[in-house]
Amino acid sequence: MSQKRVLVTGAGGFIGHHLVTYLKNEGHWVRGVDLKKPEHNPTDADEFELMDLRRWDNCLQATRGIDEVYALAADMGGMGFISTNHAPILHNNALINLHTIEAARLNGVQRYLYTSSACIYPDYRQKEAAVVALKEEDAYPAQPEDAYGWEKLIAERLCMHYRKDYGLETRVVRFHNIFGPLGTWTGGREKAPAALCRKVAIAKLTRNPEIEIWGDGEQTRSFCYIDDCVRGIDRLMQSSYSEPLNLGQDRLITVNELADVVARIAGVTIKRKHVPGPQGVRGRNSDNTRLRQVLGWEPEISLEEGLTRTYEWIEKQVRSMLTSGQVMTNVIPGASYPVAPEASNPAAAPAGRP
Ligand code: NAD
Repeated sequence: MSQKRVLVTGAGGFIGHHLVTYLKNEGHWVRGVDLKKPEHNPTDADEFELMDLRRWDNCLQATRGIDEVYALAADMGGMGFISTNHAPILHNNALINLHTIEAARLNGVQRYLYTSSACIYPDYRQKEAAVVALKEEDAYPAQPEDAYGWEKLIAERLCMHYRKDYGLETRVVRFHNIFGPLGTWTGGREKAPAALCRKVAIAKLTRNPEIEIWGDGEQTRSFCYIDDCVRGIDRLMQSSYSEPLNLGQDRLITVNELADVVARIAGVTIKRKHVPGPQGVRGRNSDNTRLRQVLGWEPEISLEEGLTRTYEWIEKQVRSMLTSGQVMTNVIPGASYPVAPEASNPAAAPAGRP
């Protein structure tokens, strides 16, 4: 395979960081661009530039001398963030996407992959927990729940028009809840799998089994492990398919069940406490029929396997925060719980105890 010069935007973020490593292992020359460096591990990129892609001049600089762009940069987070930051999300992401694709075109980029989201799907198809899985064509008539979804939809159409009007080869992938190690796990932008891993780890290490779940926990989703995600991105970029494509698992699970799976992995018993909080749509699943047809492949890593790797990494982060004296609680903001002795001595932790 010939070596390409590749740009990953959002390379300091969760998926971008893993994608840089994947593309380097495939033998490409990689430039990463982001507002921040990856938080947990050094990047594998050949070049990493800190820049704000809302600015046109930065987009021109980022895309110079590049064959292929993987456009991941976005102001985003889990439901807690998306449902309370409509204006900045729409403003920031519109600027990033408009400028990045135009700069790529002017700089003669050959292929451009845009990372869209299952959040583009209309609200009216996601009202039941036992939801019918979403096919790509279900996107229209459009009625996404949040500004985040509307902006993603516009960026999808931008790709389509740049392909038709200017001949830029565009690819559009719609992710369904990607999770894994090295992702955001605290701070307000984390998504359900990371948040639940953190809560279960705190429950285990502080011996307080109570964990908070937003809503009744019967809302459903599917969750896809990061290694499958980067493999799927690579396959789509190399394919000749230019319409939007789902990339996710198609195993539907409630948030309550997800918490139970994490607790089993951690070897603890948890007590769920349901509290008010943003839940997003009631149910969402990926229909992978087209994914299988187009890529001859679909995500392979089971939820249990992916969550085991993720939980182990997050428990390590929680343990080191607790041992450094930082208070982490699951239930009442500001309340603190005694740290179990094994938090400072992992070897002392008895198995299977809450
Ligand atoms: P992330 O937040 O970890 O990464 C996004 C990165 O973009 C961050 O590092 C952030 O600093 C960077 N960024 C934000 N504003 C920027 C700017 N003005 N200039 C330069 N960089 C900027 O998110 P992620 O989970 O890695 O998601 C990557 C892409 O995939 C995003 O476009 C996201 O919308 C999309 N997506 C992710 C999921 C998921 O489950 N993780 C689901 C659907 C879609």
